Amino acid sequence: MRPFGYLTPPDLGGAIAAVTGRPGATFLAGGTNLVDLMKLGVAAPDLLVDVTGLLPDRIEPTAAGGLRIGAGVRNSDLAADPRVRAGFPVLARAVLTGASGQLRNMATVGGNLLQRTRCLYFQDVTKPCNKRVPGSGCPARAGDHRNLAILGGSPHCVATHPSDMAVALAALDAVVHIEGPAGPRAVPIAGPFGGLYRLPGDRPDRETTLERGDLITAVEIPPLAYAGNSAYRKVRDRTSYAFAVVSVAAATDVAGGVVRDARLAIGAVAPVPWRARAAERVLAGRPATSEWFGRAADAELAMASPLPDNAFKLTLVRNVVVRMLGELAGAGS
Ligand SMILES: Cc1cc2nc3c(=O)[nH]c(=O)nc-3n(C[C@H](O)[C@H](O)[C@H](O)COP(=O)(O)OP(=O)(O)OC[C@H]3O[C@@H](n4cnc5c(N)ncnc54)[C@H](O)[C@@H]3O)c2cc1C
Ligand code: SF4
Repeated sequence: MRPFGYLTPPDLGGAIAAVTGRPGATFLAGGTNLVDLMKLGVAAPDLLVDVTGLLPDRIEPTAAGGLRIGAGVRNSDLAADPRVRAGFPVLARAVLTGASGQLRNMATVGGNLLQRTRCLYFQDVTKPCNKRVPGSGCPARAGDHRNLAILGGSPHCVATHPSDMAVALAALDAVVHIEGPAGPRAVPIAGPFGGLYRLPGDRPDRETTLERGDLITAVEIPPLAYAGNSAYRKVRDRTSYAFAVVSVAAATDVAGGVVRDARLAIGAVAPVPWRARAAERVLAGRPATSEWFGRAADAELAMASPLPDNAFKLTLVRNVVVRMLGELAGAGS
């Protein structure tokens, strides 16, 4: 590991100024991803600007009936919050499937959203990787891509986004609040346009729409009348803590055997948490049956471009979607 400085600024403005003015500086939150990447040599900041004592760390109801979650809230506290558990179970369950108890005690909401991909080549500095070293190539397409993207990738990168929390927040239409050198702004977590995350295209090194010095301060979940009827299902290679092979976040409003409305997002299939809008359009107003749930999954997966070793995700996603929507329809009708 290279030598680096450590700064605890007095306030958010000082933290933003410290990172804005120094290209090698970066924010430090719980450190559970950043410090690992520093040990691997993937990240080499020359200054860590600690924001853990500065970021909002409370969960508050909004006037509209949603929730505003401070970016400094620890993952454990988010998952345990009674308002999250009762009102937005998809979010509580997604967070609880991530990492381990100790890691969730350290990890923050802001850091979770900005954790880096687990692509093996990205984490191995002896290998080329367009995301780590732009223009160096993408060995994953012809190499180990079993767990990489089937949607939204490009010839330059097929990495998947690793966060479980982000998938639930995408389904819930969450908005990310940012403070930066240009002032405050808010962006949706999931596009289609102007969201927090970018698809790789020919610049896989640019993962978000954040600029240098931009600090996530909070995440806001708007009210959703049927959010109580929501769930998160994660398929992984082992039952102890592991990243998703595929995950699905869903919320449905079903009455009289008909889907009145649905929210669906899929994880570990794309470089971003994938909001399944094509599937949602198929579901709206249709019978709450396995046949229509399968058609909805098919509509979304029609856009997929799997590689030889990850084509199995097509069947896996379809099966999880059909089963989850069936369970939610049973619970919500
Ligand atoms: C063994 C292991 C297993 C894991 N399993 C899972 C899993 O199954 N699912 C899952 O979702 N995650 C998993 N994780 C990842 C874990 O959830 C993340 O490491 C954690 O959420 C990151 O939060 P942090 O506060 O520690 O971020 P940090 O490591 O401090 O920061 C991560 C990045 O975000 C930036 N950053 C942090 N906060 C802000 C902010 N407010 N504004 C702007 N930039 C910011 C930092 O500069 C850094 O680039 C696992 C991690 C480990 C080590
Ligand atoms: S998929 Fe992306 S992160 Fe993985 S090696 Fe290719 S460019 Fe790097």
